[in-house]
Amino acid sequence: MIKGDQYKERMAKLKPNVYMGGKLLDRFDPKVVRGMNVMGRTYDFAFDPEFGGVGTATSHLTGERINRFTHIHQSAEDLFNKQKMTRLYCQEVGGCIQRCMGIDSMNALSVATYDADQKYGTKYNQNFINFMKRVQKEDLSAVCAQTDVKGNRIWRPHEQKDPDLYVRIVEKRPDGIVVSGAKAHNSCSIYVDEIIAIPTRNMTAEENDWAVAFAVPADWEGVTLINAAYAPTARKKLQAPFNEIGMSHSITVFDNCFVPWERVFLAGETDIAGKLALLFALYHRHSYTGCKAAVSEIYTGATALAAEYNGIDKAQHVRHKLADMIQVVDLIYAAGLAAGLNSKKAASGTQIPDTNYCNAGRMLAGEAIYDEYEALAAIAGGLVATLPPEEDFYDPKTGPYLEKYIMRNPNVSAEDQHRAFRLFQDMMASAWGGHKLVDYLHGGGSPVIEKVAIYRDHNIEHSKDIAKKLAGIPVKGSTKNIDRESHAWL
Ligand SMILES: Cc1cc2nc3c(=O)[nH]c(=O)nc-3n(C[C@H](O)[C@H](O)[C@H](O)COP(=O)(O)OP(=O)(O)OC[C@H]3O[C@@H](n4cnc5c(N)ncnc54)[C@H](O)[C@@H]3O)c2cc1C
Repeated sequence: MIKGDQYKERMAKLKPNVYMGGKLLDRFDPKVVRGMNVMGRTYDFAFDPEFGGVGTATSHLTGERINRFTHIHQSAEDLFNKQKMTRLYCQEVGGCIQRCMGIDSMNALSVATYDADQKYGTKYNQNFINFMKRVQKEDLSAVCAQTDVKGNRIWRPHEQKDPDLYVRIVEKRPDGIVVSGAKAHNSCSIYVDEIIAIPTRNMTAEENDWAVAFAVPADWEGVTLINAAYAPTARKKLQAPFNEIGMSHSITVFDNCFVPWERVFLAGETDIAGKLALLFALYHRHSYTGCKAAVSEIYTGATALAAEYNGIDKAQHVRHKLADMIQVVDLIYAAGLAAGLNSKKAASGTQIPDTNYCNAGRMLAGEAIYDEYEALAAIAGGLVATLPPEEDFYDPKTGPYLEKYIMRNPNVSAEDQHRAFRLFQDMMASAWGGHKLVDYLHGGGSPVIEKVAIYRDHNIEHSKDIAKKLAGIPVKGSTKNIDRESHAWL
């Protein structure tokens, strides 16, 4: 295991291939470096005794102590610990901890590569295990580039006017494959060691070229990262932990990019492509039951703080709103716990969380964000949007006015009231807050996709049979069970 500073030393060695705002960007540019700082904390937290060891695990490959962000889950307890770690870390930094995409894709690959080898006699699992040993030994950070740019949404990969709209193999060589195409919305890709590319959907028999998975270093030849960066407004005087974070998302272009065979995890096995796509989504939705529980709790805490500072914390409508928010926090987290409890061991030995509970938790988490913004805006009032700039609180002419007129609850200092409303503004009425509103809905999969999965995995005939039986209509089988098909697609 390494520390955050060692991770940053490695980042400093990456070759420049990031473009933003019409320029080749330094990865330590102030516009993006705060995202790297968050990633760096996943390294330091693993050594922090206050987290009680939840951030470390024992490698099933080497028996060594490793950062949990490089661990392949072997048991339900591993899933519980990953969820708990994610929640605690996100709570600590004030949002996304940014390292889950990598480990979620590695867990998915551990299952899919094994299944591919069993069926096709390929060597993908050995490639993957070798890769994983290096990830664990060097404590590498990784991201998952799953979402293809996709072109016309209604057309399949092979139907697009430009075949590169889904990442594909353009050439198979004795020493490796050459890939072209682009992945969208690739979070944190500019400040990681490895980019792991996997399919975004199921592939049909004619789509062998698009059934591809591989890992390349983030600065690999042929990889160009076109980046968008967000961060809460930088503070001049009123420093706060929330303003130390930031996040990047890139369009990751693979332009005739050569990938040696030892870094290839799938190359043409169409039936495994869809399974791999679903497995990553499943692990990532399980991570959401940790991170989004933390985010929902942050919104709940901020709303309660706004109520207290506004002097309305005893009002019944405020308490009802807070109770609704707490319920969401608990249900999201409970969905993850239930998914761990009802998890299953794959043939590869990897523990797979329950699909239904992960999707239900993720869907609730994604859609609830709009209620959470609404609750904080409703209870905090309009100042969230109209708070004058920070400098005006320190200006000799306007500062005293603002100190006097920001006062609400007389038991709270003017500075703390200013701090609280500055936080609410950064959380919602800012470019950061706007981008997060879309992120929380779509990141990890749009709710409509979760609805599809929820309907697919629930035995609706069983539900109908229960109703039929109660109505006195004859049913064929027994209804004296909880009939669910969580892992049927595996
Ligand atoms: C901030 C952020 C960070 C992200 N980070 C990552 C990341 O690190 N890695 C990664 O791989 N992905 C990442 N994602 C991608 C995320 O998973 C996708 O945004 C999500 O899956 C939706 O895909 P899309 O954005 O292409 O939207 P679309 O697929 O274009 O969806 C738009 C709408 O069209 C509908 N639609 C799409 N296809 C069809 C169809 N065939 N028929 C009918 N309706 C259709 C959808 O249901 C939706 O309502 C991130 C997204 C965001 C916003």
